[in-house]
Amino acid sequence: MPDVLESLVSLCKRRGFIFQSSEIYGGVGSVWDYGPLGIELKRNLQDRWWKSMVRARDDIEGLDSGILMHPRVWEASGHVGGFVDPLVDCKNCKRRFRADEPTIKGTPGAPDAQCPSCGMKGTLSEPRQFNMMFKTFMGPVEETAAVVYLRPETAQGTYVNFLNVQQSMRKKIPFGIAQIGKAFRNEITPGNFIFRTREFEQMEMQFFVEPGTDMQWFDYWREERMLWHRGLGLREDRLRFYDQRKDELAHYARAASDIQFDFGGSLGFAEIEGVHNRGDFDLARHQEFSGKKLEYFDQPNNRRFLPFVVETAVGPNRTLLALLVSAYREEIVEGEAEGRTVLGFHPALAPVKAGVFPLVKKDGMPEMAEKIAADLRKQFPVFYDESGAIGRRYRRQDEIGTPYCVTVDGQSSVDGTVTIRDRDTLAQERVAAERLGEVIAARIAAG
Ligand code: ATP
Repeated sequence: MPDVLESLVSLCKRRGFIFQSSEIYGGVGSVWDYGPLGIELKRNLQDRWWKSMVRARDDIEGLDSGILMHPRVWEASGHVGGFVDPLVDCKNCKRRFRADEPTIKGTPGAPDAQCPSCGMKGTLSEPRQFNMMFKTFMGPVEETAAVVYLRPETAQGTYVNFLNVQQSMRKKIPFGIAQIGKAFRNEITPGNFIFRTREFEQMEMQFFVEPGTDMQWFDYWREERMLWHRGLGLREDRLRFYDQRKDELAHYARAASDIQFDFGGSLGFAEIEGVHNRGDFDLARHQEFSGKKLEYFDQPNNRRFLPFVVETAVGPNRTLLALLVSAYREEIVEGEAEGRTVLGFHPALAPVKAGVFPLVKKDGMPEMAEKIAADLRKQFPVFYDESGAIGRRYRRQDEIGTPYCVTVDGQSSVDGTVTIRDRDTLAQERVAAERLGEVIAARIAAG
């Protein structure tokens, strides 16, 4: 695990961002719970995506389809037959690995192969196929006929609703359908904190286009999505495209480009978003398996056709990890013995926008500060704190990425002004208390 990830795991727990699931029972493999600050950060990220992909455009509509779907969906999509990874088992320590795990030495199944966990030689099985979908049962009877799957991606819920959305909203091609929701994959090698988990979220958009225009739209979305990631404040030198070669493409894809972020350490550059040209694979398969026509009727030209799909698929959890890695810094502060840890989030994404403090707990300062906090809370999340030295209180806010700290001091009761401290520059300015809401909102917007 990269160094900064280790520091982040402990900071995230200590400061209420992310906890291990079921920790008091020893934890459950690769599921994480989002605490009070983590959920604010994740919501901000998801809202930003929804705003830019759905609300700010007239060619994309939103959708929220179910996690459980008709089991035939997953036959049509290829997940029942094809959503498999070759796996090897160690007969000695019982651990399972992906067959392409780089730390395996030798050929699994042969006597020279060495288990990367226990180090025994000749104990690794030959690769076997393993389906990554979680199975459950619908209804009271646990029988084969009642098997359903937890969706491994949100996209299929969109495809089966393609005509519902198109017809109810009277959309003309090209148009897209976006959704945010949970997905489940029984990943063989989860890890790196929230990078790869078995329960995660996706923010996916399927853009339906006329065949022949698909590569143009693929190029358009590839660029758009990169711009979006940069707009989050992810550093340019840590972002790059990885265009998949023909032999790397998934069975459904005509072209695919990953947006990768450099997480540092052993993880390095890794995918946070995939942009895929899926052709008409999905609609054609659902048409075939359901026996229902899914063609689009192009009225002006009086013809019917199956649109091609360009998909953008991003994980908010992985992007959130990229935000944390990108934002985390430890620095020395001039003239102070103690350094500080900062999460330098883009102000619009920061879970708490302002810390509000009375300089000391007397002379009416707490009362005035509490009133300011209550007023600001109508606009955004605010944290009120009156305990301990003021420097400590600033440090605690730096550590959770709060961009502004407001302090009520001796002058405040005289002229109605307070200081506002900037997390990054440490500059402090005096501002009229009654203008704080406006001043902070303007700074957040300027980002
Ligand atoms: P990988 O190759 O890393 O397994 P993928 O190519 O299978 O990812 P997609 O199916 O394209 O991923 O899913 C789109 C996005 O969903 C990914 O870019 C990632 O951000 C997120 N995602 C996929 N699998 C996981 C997971 N197990 N945990 C967290 N996020 C995930």
